[in-house]
Amino acid sequence: MTRMLIVGPQGSGKGTQAKLVSQQLGIVAISTGDIFRANIKGETELGKEAKGYVDAGDLVPDSLTNRLVEDRLSWEDAADGFLLDGYPRNRTQAATLNEILDRLGVELDAVLELTADTDELTQRLKHRAETEGRDDDADETVIRRRLELFENETRPMIDEYNTRGLVKQVDGLGSVDEVNARIMEALKS
Ligand code: AMP
Repeated sequence: MTRMLIVGPQGSGKGTQAKLVSQQLGIVAISTGDIFRANIKGETELGKEAKGYVDAGDLVPDSLTNRLVEDRLSWEDAADGFLLDGYPRNRTQAATLNEILDRLGVELDAVLELTADTDELTQRLKHRAETEGRDDDADETVIRRRLELFENETRPMIDEYNTRGLVKQVDGLGSVDEVNARIMEALKS
């Protein structure tokens, strides 16, 4: 298992697990959210283009996001494996990812789906807003928007991966160590 996606609603712990799992497997974790946030902080051209969308909890346009990922996946450190965190987020991006992987001559091994219920997610997002100072976690309208986008855009994409037999569902409820142990177990099967 060296080429994987990690998907799940905001607050499901996917960023934390992506970093852990990628270290455990010796592959690079690529988070589009982290890339956008770093660019916004650094006030780069990409950051300026993405800022309005990220602040509102909207998706950054597919064309921009797809280009970014295509470039990032061509780096040397992704040649032997990667764990994509936060991308793809909808069916259009998933179709583009297919094309990118075809061009690279590689295939996806698995899609890890972290599950969590909405009440738990809202609690976690509030906690994250306090501890990490993420603006997009602090505002309830933005939180609701992101959860809504997950259900409307990302869920149908996960269903597609499911029909391809790639999805491994893992309960995201519990401590970081507990969830991590479940993921490592799921990846063995
Ligand atoms: P995340 O850290 O994955 O929750 O992403 C934070 C924000 O970055 C999202 O709310 C979007 O505005 C933007 N973003 C991250 N990944 C994507 C993506 N694959 N497509 C579009 N926008 C994205």
